[in-house]
Amino acid sequence: MSARPMNIAAAFDPERVRRDFPILDQLVNGHPLVYLDNAATTQKPECVIEAISNYYRRDNANVHRGVHTLSDRATHAFEQARQTVADFLGSPRPEQLIWTSGTTAAINLVAYSWGRSTLQPGDRVLVSWLEHHSNIVPWQLVAEATGAEVLPIPVTDSGEIDLGALDSLLDARVKMVAVNHISNALGTVNPVQEIARRAKAAGALVLVDGAQSVAHWPIDVTALGCDFFVMSAHKLFGPTGIGVLWGRASLLDAMPPFLGGGEMIERVGFPTTTYNTVPFKFEAGTPNIAGAIGMAAAIDYLATIDREAAAEHEAALLARCLDLAGEVAGLRRVGTPAHAAGIFSFLLEGTHPSDVGMLLDQQGIAVRTGHHCAQPLMDRLGIPGTVRASFSIYNTQEDVTRLFEGIRKAKSLFS
Ligand code: PLP
Repeated sequence: MSARPMNIAAAFDPERVRRDFPILDQLVNGHPLVYLDNAATTQKPECVIEAISNYYRRDNANVHRGVHTLSDRATHAFEQARQTVADFLGSPRPEQLIWTSGTTAAINLVAYSWGRSTLQPGDRVLVSWLEHHSNIVPWQLVAEATGAEVLPIPVTDSGEIDLGALDSLLDARVKMVAVNHISNALGTVNPVQEIARRAKAAGALVLVDGAQSVAHWPIDVTALGCDFFVMSAHKLFGPTGIGVLWGRASLLDAMPPFLGGGEMIERVGFPTTTYNTVPFKFEAGTPNIAGAIGMAAAIDYLATIDREAAAEHEAALLARCLDLAGEVAGLRRVGTPAHAAGIFSFLLEGTHPSDVGMLLDQQGIAVRTGHHCAQPLMDRLGIPGTVRASFSIYNTQEDVTRLFEGIRKAKSLFS
């Protein structure tokens, strides 16, 4: 990301952004809400809530098969949403976008469809120790079924993927390298472009889990050099239950269907059935139409925000957290990656993360505690979990101040 003059960062106004998110304006346990659980899910702006509500009020119908006006409107909005997501991710064609229920479903789709049809005994899938369970377990399931192996790429004590170790694992047995763009547990920004370059030079495919990165900066899947990119709308100010798999066209064309049912067929008969073309081949059943429309509304909303300035604003929040953390005795940041985004994970000496989380909640501050669906990483770091504060475009310096007041109060109750 290019450096920008300070005055432009200063021009970003999180207070104005906050006003677009009605949920933020409330008291929780008697205190104004400080929402710092954005890595789990982001809040929704009014325009997204409206888009979903308007769809159900005016246009609701099933897509693709209907001949009536409402079905036509719903189909148009649904396919327009696919185009919006394609443009957002820099996809050459909208057909390369497959609707899924989210990141988890998208990874499972690749693991089941590509993995089961391709992997052989002795083949390898590499994932990093930093992965969310949803980028580990689907690969383990497919490995069990095919005789392939899943191996973890080591991470350093600072919580970064060890690129030297990746190089020593890369050989002709490796068929897939699947890594996240930003670690949801530590905030580490992984050099996915470089990882993709190395993996592809060794003949492997690359899947990037963009669940955490999409909300922080613009993505261009072509520039990343990956074969698959997955994301969830709910971490991008959109609704839950919708996300996408983006894939390289030649791979998607060659992959067999994952789920069978309506929509994914060309012709059903006995004894044989033929399948629809991509993306419909992978979209069996009635899709989440309102979800797709809500996701597109979230992307349209983001287009009204200076994203570079927003990213600088979030970086400034994290930088202030790190400064204040140095002033609290017994507070240890977990993971010290050189490049981190949006996440401050920590431990407070003499306390359990869930106790800290509960004490913060009593003060109206929402954070997440625990292993963050990254148990292998917690094992690697030798800890049971962390307290995680995660930031978004509507968080303010006041939120950081409140977080540290809360941490100090929690600490005083334990000492
Ligand atoms: N990958 C990462 C890095 C995540 O942070 C998450 C959710 O926290 C997921 C995958 C799973 O996303 P979802 O539950 O939306 O499928």
